[in-house]
Amino acid sequence: MLSIRRFHHVVALLLLSMLVLGAPAFAAGPAEFTIHPGTQMLALEGGVELLVEEPGENLTRERAMHADMVSRWSVYPRKRITMLSQHKPVWIRFALRNDTTQGAWMFGLDWPLLDEVQLHQFDPVAQVWAARLQGGLNHPEVLKAHKDPNPVFSIAIAPGKRAVMLLRVQTNSSFAAPMRLWEPTVWRAERYDYGVVMGLLFGILGVMFCYNLSLYIFTRESSFRTYAGYLLSIIAYELCATGFGPLYVWPGNDWLNQRGYEFFAAASFLAATIFFRRFLRLGRALPHLNRMNQGFIVLFGVLVVVLIFPPAKAVTLALALGGFVVGFVGVYTACYLAWKGNVLARYFVIAWGTIIAATMLMFLAVAGVIDGGGWIKYAQPVGFVVETVLLSIALAARIRYERASKEAAQRESLMLTRKVEQEREEKLRAQEHALAVQLRANEELELRVLDRTAELKRAMENIELANVELAKLSVTDALTKVHNRRYFDETLKKEHDRSARTGAPVALVLADIDHFKRINDSVGHLAGDECLKLVATTLAGTVGRSTDLVARYGGEEFAIVLPGTDAAHALDVAERMRRAVEGIQFIYRGKRIPISISLGVVARVAQANQPVAEFISEADQALYAAKGAGRNQVQLAVNG
Ligand code: GH3
Ligand code: MG
Ligand code: MG
Repeated sequence: MLSIRRFHHVVALLLLSMLVLGAPAFAAGPAEFTIHPGTQMLALEGGVELLVEEPGENLTRERAMHADMVSRWSVYPRKRITMLSQHKPVWIRFALRNDTTQGAWMFGLDWPLLDEVQLHQFDPVAQVWAARLQGGLNHPEVLKAHKDPNPVFSIAIAPGKRAVMLLRVQTNSSFAAPMRLWEPTVWRAERYDYGVVMGLLFGILGVMFCYNLSLYIFTRESSFRTYAGYLLSIIAYELCATGFGPLYVWPGNDWLNQRGYEFFAAASFLAATIFFRRFLRLGRALPHLNRMNQGFIVLFGVLVVVLIFPPAKAVTLALALGGFVVGFVGVYTACYLAWKGNVLARYFVIAWGTIIAATMLMFLAVAGVIDGGGWIKYAQPVGFVVETVLLSIALAARIRYERASKEAAQRESLMLTRKVEQEREEKLRAQEHALAVQLRANEELELRVLDRTAELKRAMENIELANVELAKLSVTDALTKVHNRRYFDETLKKEHDRSARTGAPVALVLADIDHFKRINDSVGHLAGDECLKLVATTLAGTVGRSTDLVARYGGEEFAIVLPGTDAAHALDVAERMRRAVEGIQFIYRGKRIPISISLGVVARVAQANQPVAEFISEADQALYAAKGAGRNQVQLAVNG
């Protein structure tokens, strides 16, 4: 890519000025080259005379050879004629002496960018001009006839004769005039070899282009497009630089012949700079050099546009210098990245190193600093092939690398997604579990609440029962299960008051077990208790009315309240009681213990404000009377 041939001047001047300018100038006077016997090829180098024709001068060969013009001719100081930008016609003069026996020779200039070349051959002895020969890009028919991209001429010098050769060379492109003379068969063979090798190299470049273009079409990977663009501009540039374009592809196309070389050189630099940028991802890797790269893109972009038109000298110089700088900055950048561990940059170092080396060799050869020999013309095309193949491999490597890293990224994201899903599932499961636990807890709680409620209900019922029992107990005598003294007192008072209110009689019976002390003494207190119970049950079973009340009055005494009962009826009840107790079969340790009771009865219609105590006292007195009268009998109170 550093292949601007114009540029060889700059290189020659800048890098090799010591060698080149330090070479001795040739002595004045026309150079004469001798064709020795056995000559196959003769490089016509050193000591030729030059005359630059001014615009509008329209020199003829006679005028150029005229004695007046002697001062205008000067001996060219270097071996090979190369000029940075010379668009004026240049006349070149030298002499040839043929010391061989062969008269037919091929003369040519190894520079395909010359628009117009005229060859005039003068016989100094006979003082005659041979017919003028024409060549160069303006004469596609001549190019076609010789099938040689360079301007070549078939000349005749009789054996042993001398000829003065006068050339008029003009080009709108880069100027160089390396001249050679061949033995015709040698020329033909060399040209054949050159054609085959160049065909091969163009073939490789063409295939590379088609390959990368189709890769772009199928993959839509923009790197392939950029690279195909670069290959296309290189191919176009090489077609110009080697002359095969004008020879085979665009014969007689003036614009391509005159502008193509510089235009495609700028286009190649532009494409290379863009490709370099994309390929090595300069934006990310090296922001500083990236800005420089952007600057180059702008420079070459502008140059491509400007070079559509005939360029000013400054433009040509800018292209040459820009190419020089961008080449070395590119290599520097690639070296730096490679040193930093960028594997892909290594391809660039090798690829660009190759093309720069090849181009340098070519420059040196064209400038005449080194004698390249026949192979030097292959240096740059071969360099391009090596470069493009290497870059293509690098591109494939990069795409493979990118694909691999993309796949890795995809795998990683897939893994992450799965992990996230897993975590979500786990969370969900945990939530479900928590919910289930909560539900169970709620259920348990509800059950427990139900249990507790039932328990509470039961407790309440029990309390109620207990209360009822308590109420019952509070009015019941614990031992005998008949009503107690307190209840008796209340009831008697109530019934006594009722009698006073209603006028209905009320009766009270007091009963006392006879000789109970003796029973206790003879059988013990426990048996005495049993006896008390039996008597109580018997008394309770004897009363008929529901309003009748049997209560334990104290000790072995019982009191019976009989509401609505007069004295006669009360005496009946008392008598029934006496008999019932008398009939009790109280067996203790196989022995019947007789039981009897004495009863005192009182009955009256109570008077208001009459004390109850008086009523009881009367009954007690009756009981006392019954005891006194011999026990086991009923006595009615005196006033009753
Ligand atoms: P009487 O009435 O026939 O004149 O003779 P008595 O032996 O029954 O006379 P008293 O009133 O002197 O005796 C009563 C006895 O009753 C005295 C006491 O030991 C006994 N007693 C009183 N309450 C209870 C009791 O709840 N259980 C037992 N086992 N004995 C009692
Ligand atoms: Mg008593
Ligand atoms: Mg008694």
